[in-house]
Amino acid sequence: MNYRALSYGAGAVFIALLAVGGGYFAYAGLTGKAAGWGSHGVMHRLDVSLPVADPPLSLPPISGPNDPSLPLVVIDPGHGGRDPGAINDAANGGKNTSRLMEKDVTLALSRSIRDGIVAQGRVRVALTRDDDRYISLPERYEMARKMGAGLFLSIHADAAENEEAQGASIYTLSETASDREAARLAARENGGAVINGVVLSTGDGVDATKGMTADVSTILIDLSQRDAMRSSADFAQILYREAGPYIGFRGRWHRYASLVVLKAPDMPSALFEAGYISSAQDAARLADKAGRDKIAQGVARAVGVYFARLSDSR
Ligand SMILES: [Zn+2]
Repeated sequence: MNYRALSYGAGAVFIALLAVGGGYFAYAGLTGKAAGWGSHGVMHRLDVSLPVADPPLSLPPISGPNDPSLPLVVIDPGHGGRDPGAINDAANGGKNTSRLMEKDVTLALSRSIRDGIVAQGRVRVALTRDDDRYISLPERYEMARKMGAGLFLSIHADAAENEEAQGASIYTLSETASDREAARLAARENGGAVINGVVLSTGDGVDATKGMTADVSTILIDLSQRDAMRSSADFAQILYREAGPYIGFRGRWHRYASLVVLKAPDMPSALFEAGYISSAQDAARLADKAGRDKIAQGVARAVGVYFARLSDSR
């Protein structure tokens, strides 16, 4: 910058605020126009531009074999940061006064699943978050798409007012919920309202997509989407079989719901509810490392089987 020019007032000072990566940087410079400072010592002209730019999506590190030809699964620990997910105040049957939060359970379980997949050595794996941070729902699957993931698995723990409700379930995408409970879950996980299976608002999902939802809905009828939905259902079947010995599944273990986080049009995706955080029995298992590791073992096996089958069929 030419400080002499500034002191003579030969150029107009402009200040631009740039939104970069969530932080704001002020940038001051000189334009070629005359009369920057007036006789009263105040600035005549102030150009402020605030470009609305999405912060660049930083992609997480990939664990496992350093071989890009091997398939990649992206594990998505649900919730995080200012979004705690479901909370159980009476975790561990009320003996433990610490609050069990879904966002902590999903992160611990996802890390354990990652370790299990790395130990197999045949599939690469990445987590959408490896700390306590907030990520919007579309950002989660966009990360996986950008990384070229062959499978996206979002990890959650359900909650119900009925403390008797327990067991794991798997959700895959459908524009119409398979039952009232699936609609309730979509409302909770999407942070919006669902009535009779129709999503009225998808909370931060819609904000973050900035009008992308309509496009995604159009693509939903595309064949590639149907293909992804079929592969998602195949994975759900494998997950049920492989994880079944380690966790109790609900009677209706596979449900369909309109979940924002599953809306990647071209990537097989499933949401795994690893149990009910509101159930004393499930909460105790999810709060315990040994309990989580068993569930994770089943999930890691299912991921390995899913990709092995894909490579067999080619
Ligand atoms: Zn959740």
